[in-house]
Amino acid sequence: MDLQTLALHAGYDKDTQSTMAVPIYQTTAYEFRDVEHAANLFALKELGNIYTRLNNPTTDVFEKRFASLEGGEAGLATSSGMSAIFYAIANATEAGDNIVCAKQLYGGTLTQTAHTLKRFGIESRFFNVHMPQEIEALVDAKTKVIFFESLTNPSIDVADIDAIVAIANKHGILTVVDNTVATPVLCNPLKHGVDVVVHSASKYTTGQGLAIGGILVERKELINKLKNNPRYPQFNEPDHSYHGLVYAEVPLPPFTLRARLSLLRDLGAVVSPFNSWLFIQGMETLALRMREHSKNALALATYLESHPKVKKVNYPGLPSNSNYKNAQKYFDGGLCSGLLSFEVESFEEAKKIVDATKLYSLVVNIGDSKSIITHPASTTHQQLSNEELIACGVPSGLIRISCGLESAADLIADMEQALA
Ligand code: PLP
Repeated sequence: MDLQTLALHAGYDKDTQSTMAVPIYQTTAYEFRDVEHAANLFALKELGNIYTRLNNPTTDVFEKRFASLEGGEAGLATSSGMSAIFYAIANATEAGDNIVCAKQLYGGTLTQTAHTLKRFGIESRFFNVHMPQEIEALVDAKTKVIFFESLTNPSIDVADIDAIVAIANKHGILTVVDNTVATPVLCNPLKHGVDVVVHSASKYTTGQGLAIGGILVERKELINKLKNNPRYPQFNEPDHSYHGLVYAEVPLPPFTLRARLSLLRDLGAVVSPFNSWLFIQGMETLALRMREHSKNALALATYLESHPKVKKVNYPGLPSNSNYKNAQKYFDGGLCSGLLSFEVESFEEAKKIVDATKLYSLVVNIGDSKSIITHPASTTHQQLSNEELIACGVPSGLIRISCGLESAADLIADMEQALA
């Protein structure tokens, strides 16, 4: 079925009241029929609802629907994109292991991998997303994950997914891709052999800046990569915290099953049923919105490229952009989502332009239906020196835009007056 059809129907068999809208099951727990029923659920002899930290019928629809859009086997929703990323990595690693990550990452992911995971004994090693060949020298027997973003935030680069997956598969290492900015509408990493996709649902999935949440999705037949793979004993040996369950031996998607039974159960970064419901509403229009976000961003990028005050525009949909070839290969119809950035002469000039815009809101978010503008050097990256800013691809005159759904003509007109 087409993605737009799945976005409206997948994962929901009308409930006993035949409601057209997926109901919000706003409940903490569920009544068992009797003791045997309860025991069967806890022993996984029967599948069903136990407690909303583990599962919830509204969240279940969100997970099944989102997994179907990604072409995956199963999904696990979490309370934020950051917790989805943490669970994906923690599910594959133990203290003493390492992961290999692209340098071009969202700031929160960079601090989680470089600093927070280190406190739990997990080392992160970094490669340039434009140079997958750097990965070979970084992997060893303790490497458990290769992590990157399909369309990077904020540097707006497009990863060569096939090249990275080929190296990971040669070594039997799991690939985890953050597909937040591209969304499953524009890019399907699982179809290129990626093992697990993670998302911040707080961005384009909700689409209107309404809620924080995350999701991870595992590809079909991931079991074949995990089973008897010496890198991943946790999937092949009994889990003593769950009656000696061996995840690779049960006929259920192993990665999300373990993340649910062990990480969600014990760490509890669970999404609220209400937020799952909001994400379900957002998904209904995700494909329509992504086309409009992409069209607006291309129109604005094209305008900016011709403006004399603009030194450089970063948007992979522009033929002049160094990511154009990868974007044409990996993004449906060459549509490149709503994120772009451009560089003007100086820090002061950038501040003046940001303050002069009227339609763009000064906000540190992306993926809202309303357009957003940020000046990284005075906000998210303010601690960095000029040299450090240049080294991480965020010069002091850089302005980032998350193009919303206003008319392209109005977005261009407002930018024109701000640049004047
Ligand atoms: N991944 C990307 C690419 C992001 O842009 C963000 C947030 O901006 C996150 C993950 C974190 O998501 P959340 O804010 O839902 O925790």
